[in-house]
Amino acid sequence: MINRRTLLKRLSALPLVGTIMGSGIPVQSVFADTPSMPKRDLIKELGLRTFINAAGTYTAMTASLMPEEVMETIEASSKQFIMLDEVQDKVGEKIAAICHAEAATVTSGCWSAMVLGLAGVLTGTDKDKIAQLPNLKGMKSEVIVQKSHNVAYVHSLTNTGVTLIPVETVEELENAINEKTAMLWFLNYQAPVGKIQHEEWVALGKKHNIPTMIDIAADVPPVENLWKFNDMGFDMVCISGGKAMKGPQSAGILMGRKEIIEAARLSAPPRGHTIGRGMKVNKEEILGMLVALELYVQKDHEKEWKSWEQKVSFIEEMVKKVDGVTTSVSVPPVANHTPFLKIAWYPNVINLNRTQMQEKLRNGNPSIEVVGSGDHEVSCTVFMLRPNEEKIVTKRIQEELIAGRV
Ligand SMILES: *Cc1c(COP(=O)(O)O)cnc(C)c1O
Repeated sequence: MINRRTLLKRLSALPLVGTIMGSGIPVQSVFADTPSMPKRDLIKELGLRTFINAAGTYTAMTASLMPEEVMETIEASSKQFIMLDEVQDKVGEKIAAICHAEAATVTSGCWSAMVLGLAGVLTGTDKDKIAQLPNLKGMKSEVIVQKSHNVAYVHSLTNTGVTLIPVETVEELENAINEKTAMLWFLNYQAPVGKIQHEEWVALGKKHNIPTMIDIAADVPPVENLWKFNDMGFDMVCISGGKAMKGPQSAGILMGRKEIIEAARLSAPPRGHTIGRGMKVNKEEILGMLVALELYVQKDHEKEWKSWEQKVSFIEEMVKKVDGVTTSVSVPPVANHTPFLKIAWYPNVINLNRTQMQEKLRNGNPSIEVVGSGDHEVSCTVFMLRPNEEKIVTKRIQEELIAGRV
């Protein structure tokens, strides 16, 4: 039997698209009372595992779920052509105003915000230099970082061809500065273990006339972080869009000084011959990013925090009733700043290690992801749970703890 999609396809291949063979009858009316085709379910069709995310905003777990309003924006804008630069101009202005920045642009994640921001610093608006990256001939070539910050994601910086110069103290930093120094990079989540703090970093940049950049990828909440570092005077602030902000996973924001953002955009699509040509963001995600940011800023953060605490204590109260189980709640000071519940057990009472527990939860129905570090404990967060999932998580963890009793 010919289905509706095939028929439509065949009809549209005919001349006089839109009417049945020139009869004047619109195609739609022919199908007016045919029942609509069931929607395709790709997740089922491909046999993909879905799960309850009690772990957190992990890139490998696809990070976060976009709110309805973001999806509606993506859907609606997918039906029109818009010039890519125009959508970036308008969205950039809105984002900059929300975040107290001079300018902003949507990037394909925090990582590409760092590549493009640094590219902008290195090349300015010089077309030849832009085309030449990552060959730094005639450009500055060093970025100073604190040793303790030289951990994750610095590949985004070295991607432009620069060399990282690790330092520990202010004295070392000032000695490291020379005519090749392009930028001072700060990793916010490592601030608590660094010797040089934010304000001093910014002041050193200003003193030596070297731009500063901060990576705050996973560092909302608190919401104030969206503007705090712009207010403080960092020349560039880079953040992920798809973590706690729940924008598209492949979006992020570069914001900061106008002339740097303008220069950075010269390395970004639609322009080719650039280091950033592969870092494209489509119009749907650019607009979706703006809507996600607006929703995030407008939400009642206190209320949300309370609901996280309630869910965490619900799970905690229930699982600690199981013999041999201890629990504790902690909140990381920076990055993924949300309550984490650690559930630990005595192996002589419950014969199960962490990996076994994770596999049992993963292979159960519904599948659940949790994280963990020690041998006999798992950790969960509740900020990525959908309504009522905390009950399922509690029940499943309880079941496995009880089943493991010796
Ligand atoms: C997640 C993360 C990144 C990368 O961000 P994307 O948005 O995935 O590109 C960079 N830095 C830190 C500290 C991160 O946590």
